[in-house]
Amino acid sequence: MRLPSLFISHGSPMMALEPSAARDYLSTLGADLPRPAAILVVSAHHDADWTGGRASITASPAPPTVHDFGNFPQALFDMRYPASGNPELALHVQSLLAAHGLDIDADPKRGLDHGAWVPLSLIYPDADIPVVQLSIHSSAPPEWHYALGQALAPLREDGVLIIGSGSMTHNLRAIFGANLGIDAPAPHWVSEFTEWAAQKVAEDAVDDLLHIVERAPYGHENHPTMDHILPLHVAMGAGSMGGALHGKRLHHSTTYGMLAMDVYAFGMTD
Ligand code: ZN
Repeated sequence: MRLPSLFISHGSPMMALEPSAARDYLSTLGADLPRPAAILVVSAHHDADWTGGRASITASPAPPTVHDFGNFPQALFDMRYPASGNPELALHVQSLLAAHGLDIDADPKRGLDHGAWVPLSLIYPDADIPVVQLSIHSSAPPEWHYALGQALAPLREDGVLIIGSGSMTHNLRAIFGANLGIDAPAPHWVSEFTEWAAQKVAEDAVDDLLHIVERAPYGHENHPTMDHILPLHVAMGAGSMGGALHGKRLHHSTTYGMLAMDVYAFGMTD
């Protein structure tokens, strides 16, 4: 069984509680996929740049749920995602990446941040599939993240679902400044960006997607920092075969006008 790789926009942590089209979509996604043996999430909120420049993977047999946010309702802090970890898979990933010259640390203490547990609580609400979480490296370029994904790709053959968890657009300053309702329509500078990305995925335009922030309309406005788009490049690499992405946009919506919730699959050949 070979699974596709996914890029998921995890949105606001409130997606775990608040109705939205993206929430509805993610709630159906698990049933549409072959059941994975394990899940590897590359989270925008787990950044090697914050941990001394060393990328790391969770290696706890029972990773805690990390509430890495503030100013949200208590109900969100009360949520837990009690999936088990998979220390053997973490070690396997470590050796797989080392063989590609990518050295990462295994972290026996770190838990799952909201980039992992918020979408997983919708996709696999029973939390009965083991999860490991790998960091991005936000000061490293998209090409590094694409290569990381390519190194992880063989895991798909073993039934590991590889998820890059970020956000299709992510200008928090603009979002907080505008303070729009959850159902507000997207402004043109957001929709032009998301539609450019969808077209480039359909065209298999890998190089354009690796330079999405420079080349897409309003790239810098939608991604003032790189952290939430780099998981897209990991998912692209993990799904690529012979340089082709076999990509498909599975979902498109926006929340709060400016936070695009697009979901993509790569490696969709079966
Ligand atoms: Zn985020």
